[in-house]
Amino acid sequence: SGAHAQGKELVVATDTAFVPFEFKQGNTYTGFDVDLWAAIAKELNLKYKLQPMDFAGIIPGLQTKNIDAALAGITIRDDRKKVIDFSDPYYESGLAILVGEKNTDIKDAKSLAGKTVAVKTGTATVDFLKAQVPDAKLKLFPNIDNAYLELATGRVDAAVHDTPNVQYYANTAGKGRVKVVGSVKSGDFYGIAFPKGSDLVPQVNKALATLKANGQYDAIYMKWFGKKP
Ligand code: GLN
Repeated sequence: SGAHAQGKELVVATDTAFVPFEFKQGNTYTGFDVDLWAAIAKELNLKYKLQPMDFAGIIPGLQTKNIDAALAGITIRDDRKKVIDFSDPYYESGLAILVGEKNTDIKDAKSLAGKTVAVKTGTATVDFLKAQVPDAKLKLFPNIDNAYLELATGRVDAAVHDTPNVQYYANTAGKGRVKVVGSVKSGDFYGIAFPKGSDLVPQVNKALATLKANGQYDAIYMKWFGKKP
């Protein structure tokens, strides 16, 4: 497939809602991942269309080759590397807890035991909590925005998700209603994902290195996170 990547219109999946990496603004998708891919595609002269979908559909879509590439803040993991390929890491991340503004009893992963915790279907958070806090009652949502609404209206005790997303939400839509109580995991890395064996991988890694060297990566990072990487 990738051998003729420059000729065809690639299908590039993103998540439906993962601020500030990909989210709908008016009728179009925007965000860090969206801008990063646009810069890579320009560098490599690739034509593509974005296909937002629930996170849980992305890895299966890559496995069946219905998708040519995916950017969705996808955490690079050894188990996933068995079924899909990843680019070099492009963002360092982790997991954090979000609670209602007035909550005082949830402080760390351990204090989630016995609590109802909203999480997103198919994400690394689900595996993390099942392993680390087996007594937490997980409530699964395909779209994290619905999990956050559930938290803001008091129907769950906490939400756990990727740190940059939790922080961005707490500082924007969730401001005054929810707060971040801390990181439960760090040292995760996001990679752009591809079907196994895609020869887009070396091309994209080369473009990524170019964008890091020429300042374009830093400019996109600054635009969405307001600081240098
Ligand atoms: N980083 C999370 C994972 O790979 C998913 C992030 C997201 O919700 N898009 O499982």
